[in-house]
Amino acid sequence: MNPNITQQICVAGEWRLGGGDKYATLYPATGEPVAYLNAASVADVNEAIERADHAFRTSGWAQRKPHERAAVLNKVAQLIRERGEELAQMQRLDNGKPITETRNLVASAAATFQFFAAACETLEETITPARGDNLTMSVYEPMGVVAAITPWNSPIASEAQKMAPALAAGNAVVVKPAEVTPLAALELARICIEAGVPAGLISVLPGKGSVIGDAITLHPLVKRVSFTGGTSTGKHIAHIAADKMMPVSLELGGKSPTIVFEDADLDHAVAGVLYGIFSSSGESCIAGSRLFVAHRIYDSFMERLAAGAAALRVGDPADEKTQLGPLITARHRDSIESYVALGVAEGGRIRVGGMRPQGAAFDKGNYYLPTIIEGVKNDWRICQEEIFGPVLVAMPFSDEDDLIRQANDSVYALAAGIWTQDYKKAWRYARAVQAGNVWINTYKQFSISTPFGGWRDSGLGREKGRLGILQYMEQKSVYWGMNHMPLPWAQGAK
Ligand code: NDP
Repeated sequence: MNPNITQQICVAGEWRLGGGDKYATLYPATGEPVAYLNAASVADVNEAIERADHAFRTSGWAQRKPHERAAVLNKVAQLIRERGEELAQMQRLDNGKPITETRNLVASAAATFQFFAAACETLEETITPARGDNLTMSVYEPMGVVAAITPWNSPIASEAQKMAPALAAGNAVVVKPAEVTPLAALELARICIEAGVPAGLISVLPGKGSVIGDAITLHPLVKRVSFTGGTSTGKHIAHIAADKMMPVSLELGGKSPTIVFEDADLDHAVAGVLYGIFSSSGESCIAGSRLFVAHRIYDSFMERLAAGAAALRVGDPADEKTQLGPLITARHRDSIESYVALGVAEGGRIRVGGMRPQGAAFDKGNYYLPTIIEGVKNDWRICQEEIFGPVLVAMPFSDEDDLIRQANDSVYALAAGIWTQDYKKAWRYARAVQAGNVWINTYKQFSISTPFGGWRDSGLGREKGRLGILQYMEQKSVYWGMNHMPLPWAQGAK
């Protein structure tokens, strides 16, 4: 990445400087500029959407046979893999995640395009059982221009999760990446166009969500918004969508409970809880951030967990051994520090962490140590609000009946973890916990072939899964009249 070159944005396939203000994206590990770019302006948004609508109607993409669109998407997957290391390094600079993690995100983006190529090629339309002298069918149509609004925490994977099914379905797609992490989306656009997606179908419009995101969501030619981000932004988008009668999918925040029962395999549980909360520095919607541990094993389990957290390697994201990189911005770290202070003010005790790492290597980056807070109650703000950082709150439980009430006592319901060797208990709690995703004796495992989403304030709709492509299509019923006689009602009319 050359910070001396101002990055261009993509307006319906045309690469040019955005009409908005110039800004720099910063490497979270050092605060140094990675790239400069001019944000998109509202005029860029309007032009991109109008030209995308034109391209949708005239490029022939939607009319191509599914296997032909699939071939292009497979080419996108191939190009992502060929440029994998370059993309992973770019993503590391863009959001400061450790290189080992950004490599996985890039691999996931490639797999997502490949998966939706297959979903596109194998999507079946159906002949429904006839209840009259008709042949009745259910078919799917692309929607037109759809929008993808993504957060900063896993850019290339989040963008692929929306762009791949949207394009597979035959649509044009307008991407609004997070202002602070626009680079992967821009590169993905270049790759899609190089692979053969008609250029006019692709736009990437970085800029402030409150300006660019609103302009996209409000635009009458935008037929669907797929959003990943915070719950308050999601609700704002849902209000606009209600006025437009526009479908949306909202992947929002979480405060996910993890439950460790007395009979859990403790080696697995310690490793799983650490991974669940501290990987990605806790900047993960599904972070297992609320821990409930059976009181009989609480002390010994927490001993091991605290030792494990203290041993995690925080540092340079370019180092292959680093487990936690810096947080996305200094402002975000300030917010995490305020939450830790709040937890202490509410009466919590810091068991481990609770501060920035010390030393010259950390001076310029937005680092924060893995932190565990004990002595808390589930109804405190520290246990109810999403922190989106490396902060775990831990509570013992003794009453298994009350446990599920507490686990479910949250506005969020995105994910949950259960650690026990009793399969009947695992099943009972997995069914009783209210969450879009439940992991039993594992955590934070994903599969593109398995639907993902949240309940309540954690979201609406599902992404991924073979039928994820249908989120970007309208369903249409077609009746073919098969009767050789006219409809009886008008009999006698001439
Ligand atoms: P935000 O909701 O602030 O931002 C997400 C995206 O929405 C950004 O691109 C942002 O732009 C944009 N945006 C902001 N305001 C508007 C608006 N008025 N209209 C349209 N778009 C807008 O979330 P964060 O950036 O803080 O991301 C973290 C959040 O995302 C966490 O709460 C986390 O839980 C959630 N998340 C959920 C996931 C899930 O799958 N459930 C996965 C990952 C994260 P801008 O560039 O200006 O910020």
